[in-house]
Amino acid sequence: MELIFEKSRPGYGGYQVPKTDVPEIILEEYIDSSLIREDLSLPEVAEIEVIRHYTALSRMNFGVDTGFYPLGSCTMKYNPKINEDLSHLPAFEELHPYGPESWSQGSLQLMYELKSFLCEIFGMADFSLQPAAGAHGELTGMIICRKYFDKKKERRSKILIPDTAHGTNPASGALCGYEVVTVKSDRDGNIDLDHLGRMMTDDVAALMLTNPNTLGLFERNIEAVADIVHIKGGILYGDGANANAFLGKCRPGDLGFDIIQVNLHKTFSSPHGSGGPGSGPVGVAPHLVDFLPIPRVVRDGEAYRMEYDFPDSIGRVKSFYGNFSVLLRAYAYIRSLGAEGLMKVAEIAVLNANYVRTRLKPFFDLPYDRMCMHECVFSGRRQLANWGVKTAHMAKRLIDYGFHPPTVYFPLIVPEAMMIEPTETESVTMLDKFCEAMIAIAKEAEKAPENLKKAPLNGAISQLDEVLAAREPDIRWKKRGEGNGH
Ligand SMILES: *Cc1c(COP(=O)(O)O)cnc(C)c1O
Repeated sequence: MELIFEKSRPGYGGYQVPKTDVPEIILEEYIDSSLIREDLSLPEVAEIEVIRHYTALSRMNFGVDTGFYPLGSCTMKYNPKINEDLSHLPAFEELHPYGPESWSQGSLQLMYELKSFLCEIFGMADFSLQPAAGAHGELTGMIICRKYFDKKKERRSKILIPDTAHGTNPASGALCGYEVVTVKSDRDGNIDLDHLGRMMTDDVAALMLTNPNTLGLFERNIEAVADIVHIKGGILYGDGANANAFLGKCRPGDLGFDIIQVNLHKTFSSPHGSGGPGSGPVGVAPHLVDFLPIPRVVRDGEAYRMEYDFPDSIGRVKSFYGNFSVLLRAYAYIRSLGAEGLMKVAEIAVLNANYVRTRLKPFFDLPYDRMCMHECVFSGRRQLANWGVKTAHMAKRLIDYGFHPPTVYFPLIVPEAMMIEPTETESVTMLDKFCEAMIAIAKEAEKAPENLKKAPLNGAISQLDEVLAAREPDIRWKKRGEGNGH
């Protein structure tokens, strides 16, 4: 496909500028001529070419609105379009963040109510809505943890992270200056309590725990885990990215978590992927409220305002008040589903994952064979050992069936991992279609492995040389067979 610059033909354009109604000036009298650009090299294309170009590009994309997207850990659920409409209401969209608070009462009230909802759903004392993503929320939580121990004049240099953790957890801990120490999982996929007991020493600031973890399993000994951490004066940090599994069913605050980040773009349904915008609010237990970022939205009688006077606060972590449009979508989502609806989300998300787990179990290895939460993790090791078919091949073959592949090779403790998160928004008909495709692929691995290794056979592009693609990306789209297409 041609780049828009290659479509450019002199003289074509898609804009009309009205005649100037102010006196013309000589630009060089105001700006140094070396700073004035004569040739912008903008593409010259007619409006219809622009429309066709971007429409064609959008069709090469895959999204929740085009097909089933079981990308584990990412909660690629359908995003109701009413949330989109509401987030574009002019009263919100056109509000300037520097406008006076008296003009912004509706937005302030929305933020205040959203954080109250989050406090109730997750059992925390207060929330900050500022962080712009899950990873940013983790970092904010870790900075709060640091400040808490600084204030107590305790020197703690390490954080513990289970071997199932998402890569952002150790990254956030390390960015905050902590030494990251790995805690092992046991054979059932829970934290190994003996190992945790030995590792949880006086110099450990926190345990960062995802529950349910990235195996899709609920930590069975969560209360014991919390006790081990708290007895040593440590903080139990919860990565709440997997909240879809337990909305309204249990509350991290009740389980003993002191800090938690929630990924609004995942659980509370904003379009995400390809870099956001996201939102990762951070909730804390009562003893950590003073450390939350400023400003914090507060209520004074009937009025709402931003309050900056919290001397122990870690300060700002984001310009203005966070990614407000994502907050708006989350608010609309919570209000439209209500408490009953949110509980149903968790129930159906878990039901759907267990349906897929049960249907695919005869065909793929299931290293942690127990009831799962919102996602299930298979291993392709049988296919690799017997027929040399890798998980990557099977994932790419799914593209031929019109499905987005699951998350692969993660979590790291499962060899040839395939992590499938169907979400609650898929029907059983769709789950059946997906399972039938997976079963056909399992059979193909056995009967025609060489064919499978060439997958995708009908995708927009064929297999990439992944190393070359990362090192020397060639973003030009080529037809199959043209060039190396990396
Ligand atoms: C998605 C995810 C994160 C990171 O969230 P971002 O919004 O992508 O920064 C962290 N932990 C887990 C378990 C996740 O699934």
